[in-house]
Amino acid sequence: MIPRSGDRSFDLALARTLAAVSETLKVLPSFAYYDDYDGLNAYATPKVRLVNADGTVLFGQRLLSRLMSGKESPEVAVAAVCAHEFGHILQFKRGLDKVVGAGQRTVKRVELQADFFAGYFAGVRKLQRPNFPAAVFAMTQYHFGDNMVNDPGHHGTPEERGAAISKGFEIAYREKRSLSEAIQAANNFALSL
Ligand SMILES: [Zn+2]
Repeated sequence: MIPRSGDRSFDLALARTLAAVSETLKVLPSFAYYDDYDGLNAYATPKVRLVNADGTVLFGQRLLSRLMSGKESPEVAVAAVCAHEFGHILQFKRGLDKVVGAGQRTVKRVELQADFFAGYFAGVRKLQRPNFPAAVFAMTQYHFGDNMVNDPGHHGTPEERGAAISKGFEIAYREKRSLSEAIQAANNFALSL
């Protein structure tokens, strides 16, 4: 558990973004970095490390370096991964992962619903800040797609991940739905996959 990235201005900017994700998805997990020596990763767990926290989001330092070396709005790519993980926290908090994951051979529905929530955040953010580069969210998750469709760890193909972000984005940006309406839409979306 490592509290800071080592880059103070990046940490401040990310803290502001995470506060916005918290407010939009109405979850308040604790957040830290960790040493992802065994493979670039970030994850969310319902385990509570701070009193009153909604679980914990851990972000791999190697994944952070990889994303920050990207050319286009690297800090927004980091925010996309964080928003996906906060989406998992929302699922744990409301039991959505149980609903959409029931009877599934892979985690795909649960993962694409987390992408939907990340997209929802991007749409809310773009309404607040019109020059927010929301397309970076779709591109980032597209790149994390995989084609191992029969693997229990299958998260969705690149196309499915990009589309899940877009669906969540539209619910916020075009349809201007509340979080509870977005949750209903996200359940319908995941259950239709
Ligand atoms: Zn995930």
